[in-house]
Amino acid sequence: SSRIMLGPLVAAIDQGTSSTRFLVFNAKTAELLSHHQVEIQQSFPKEGWVEEDPKEILQSVYECMDRTCEKLTQLNIDISNIKAIGVTNQRETTIVWDKETGEPFYNNQNIPCPVAMWMVKCMLTEMLHYTCSVWLDLRTQSTVERLINRTPGRNKNHLKHKTGLPISTYFSAVKLRWLMDNVEEVRRAILSHRALFGTVDSWLIWCLTGGEKSGVHCTDVTNASRTMLFNIHSLDWDPDLCKKNTGKGILGLHVFTCLGDQSAALVGQMCFQDGQAKNTYGTGCFLLRNTGPKPVMSDHGLLTTVAYKLGRDKPACYALEGSVAIAGAVVRWLKDNLGIIQTSTELEKLAAGVGTSYGCYFVPAFSGLYAPYWEPSARGIICGLTQFTNKSHLAFAALEAVCFQTREILDAMNQDSGIPLSQLQVDGGMTSNKLLMQLQADILCIPVVKPSMPETTALGAAMAAGAAEGVSVWSLSPEDLSEVTSEKFEPQINPEESEFRYARWKKAVQRAMNWET
Ligand code: ADP
Repeated sequence: SSRIMLGPLVAAIDQGTSSTRFLVFNAKTAELLSHHQVEIQQSFPKEGWVEEDPKEILQSVYECMDRTCEKLTQLNIDISNIKAIGVTNQRETTIVWDKETGEPFYNNQNIPCPVAMWMVKCMLTEMLHYTCSVWLDLRTQSTVERLINRTPGRNKNHLKHKTGLPISTYFSAVKLRWLMDNVEEVRRAILSHRALFGTVDSWLIWCLTGGEKSGVHCTDVTNASRTMLFNIHSLDWDPDLCKKNTGKGILGLHVFTCLGDQSAALVGQMCFQDGQAKNTYGTGCFLLRNTGPKPVMSDHGLLTTVAYKLGRDKPACYALEGSVAIAGAVVRWLKDNLGIIQTSTELEKLAAGVGTSYGCYFVPAFSGLYAPYWEPSARGIICGLTQFTNKSHLAFAALEAVCFQTREILDAMNQDSGIPLSQLQVDGGMTSNKLLMQLQADILCIPVVKPSMPETTALGAAMAAGAAEGVSVWSLSPEDLSEVTSEKFEPQINPEESEFRYARWKKAVQRAMNWET
């Protein structure tokens, strides 16, 4: 059979908190040709701890690459047309591994993976610390308190002028500090110069470029800007921050085609202009607004982060970010912990059956509250319960919680910028839930717009990789943009109703705050 001629293809490894995907796009049209997705196990070994297995993450990447390539071959598409692969990843999640002990899996065989033919072959390496501390993990709460107590005036924003970030359990430096303080092997490996530290992008790229033989230890500016070790103005590791957070400056930086997941989504949604914004609904929820080549510091609890830097000679673009820790994770909780649904898609039907929370408010502050509060001691609450409340109302309240949290971020964003957003571009796994999208439009009182191709994170990473290789072009003409098909959700309730519910939500948040004090 004859091979289909499509021209250059671009691919993305999209390593998220709940799953890994490998996706292949046509570099010229951005059409998604094939993909494969594998779920990632999360473990919660103690209250507040969230871990994933870096080896499982790596395996899932190989599996997704293999299966996708098989599917392409079945479609008669020549996989050697894949000219560039971008990596996009869950940010902040922290891994430390041994650069020398090369204990490979599979009896010294290379992992079978056709895609690796154009990448340097890779072997798995035995890691010092088998689990990675996931961005949601709260175990560093006392480390954070200690760091804040050491700052003048006990100010959690003490490093913000350099990092754009408050001192929080969320960012990698404190997770690394915890590993150094609590895991003897890590401490020993650091002293004997065998330890490598990285976020998920660094771990994957190191493995994919040959592991202990020739692995490249690198990251990009978007991931680096989430470590709390990186100066977002000079775009370099900051010796002072490294000393404060980790005891020594240990890092070197090379740039690979790699973008943190939220940056990739911003790029995939083509938010290249100052003022353009997108909100991604995954495990958490992340609203990023492009602020152009100048970092803008928030007065309303948002982060300042490097949005992207597409090329060595190109300027960095910055974003204001509102991070919500728990969005899709609340759905997973209703499924895995309460068992009131079997699959996440069942939630929509359950909630739609009642169409109201009947006065029930659910603040899922499982990992404290992130933006705009940055309150690690907040804990989840469900309030407004009556004898009448049932699991459908709870399901509805969980969806509303995602929308209210987004409203808080949007309000902060509008106050910081002075120019209110007139509509919200959205993406991410949860946006397949139409009820959620409608509720979001109702609670924001502005339209919500969802592209018909939902894999914007992967598209952003693949297109960035293609642009670096010169095989894909960014077409930004209004005609091209208007060809991107989308679905629009218009607000359907009156603003007074919306304000009333939002005011109740705010009261519920106050009850969730400072739970432990
Ligand atoms: P991540 O990038 O964080 O791994 P995804 O964008 O893949 O996340 O989205 C997965 C999340 O979306 C999961 O937490 C899941 O519970 C949630 N989700 C998926 N489909 C639905 C749905 N139909 N309704 C509600 N939540 C959903």
